[in-house]
Amino acid sequence: MDGVLVGKRIIGAQAPVTIGWENIPRVEGGPVKRFIFTYFQPVMFFAAILFWYYAPNSIAVASTAIGIGIAFRVLLLALEWVNPRHKSWTLTWKELITDLFYVGLGYTVLRMVDAYIGDGVIIDAILSSYDWSKLDWFTSMPLLLQAILISFMFDFGQYWMHRGMHNWYPLWATHAPHHYITQLNINKGAVGNPIELFLIGLGIGGFFDFLPRAVLLAGAFGMTVSIYQHINVRFNTPAWWRFLFNTTEHHSVHHSQDYEATRSNYSGTWIIIDRMFGTCIDGEAELLGMEGGRRMPVHETMLYTPREWYRAGRKWLRKRLPQPTAVPAE
Ligand SMILES: [Zn+2]
Repeated sequence: MDGVLVGKRIIGAQAPVTIGWENIPRVEGGPVKRFIFTYFQPVMFFAAILFWYYAPNSIAVASTAIGIGIAFRVLLLALEWVNPRHKSWTLTWKELITDLFYVGLGYTVLRMVDAYIGDGVIIDAILSSYDWSKLDWFTSMPLLLQAILISFMFDFGQYWMHRGMHNWYPLWATHAPHHYITQLNINKGAVGNPIELFLIGLGIGGFFDFLPRAVLLAGAFGMTVSIYQHINVRFNTPAWWRFLFNTTEHHSVHHSQDYEATRSNYSGTWIIIDRMFGTCIDGEAELLGMEGGRRMPVHETMLYTPREWYRAGRKWLRKRLPQPTAVPAE
């Protein structure tokens, strides 16, 4: 395989990656189907913004956001069934059951852990030690601008956390299991070692307690943009969206079996952050995973991170501790 030169890097030398929007297939079928899969993403995006902008205070609460989020996932699952992106990514019973295990794990255990030692504690500390009137300049800005800034700043942090995971071994050990997925579908964002989900989830939950409306509005960006990272649906995504926001196409390149291709498209919502730092690749990939597409079993996913930390720590210590010199036998 020759690969394609993107910037200074050869992409797709190890595994096939399609580069450039002009080479990506369009939605096939009748006019109704093409209409739906062209306008679904922007319509849902603007509907969510209008809803969170105008909903009365009694409805605009975190529990409504969680409920809408679950209903939206079910709707997207139906879209995957109607218009899959790749036949090879079709959901099997085995995939679905293991996915639901991780989704359930994410909803229960991580929420508890997060509340006790994660953002709950951090947010409480920040709330009690900071003079919040200093933030009046922020909260007096237009609501939509606040929401865009919150979403952008949060994603900026996620970008560097994710990029760090791909460049520093102790962090990579938490993220590697997620890169063993061999297909994308709506539940795949939850698949991985729980320690990674904790790192990624840090800072999400506790923010619900203050600046509620702007944060809920920022959450709508996440729900109607970054959710498409892991989905098996073919859309005719508008050009402005692909320029500004992350897409399934971008994220499939990130999950490609081609090593160079995985070192791109780190952001969750704002792909423009990748454009700013020169890590964006516009394209898509069908062949995903690590080690030629080996499917990592659940028990290995659970044990992977602590095991790799132990191995790396032992190696690190051995290099630094004085080695016992051999005593000649008498
Ligand atoms: Zn990654």
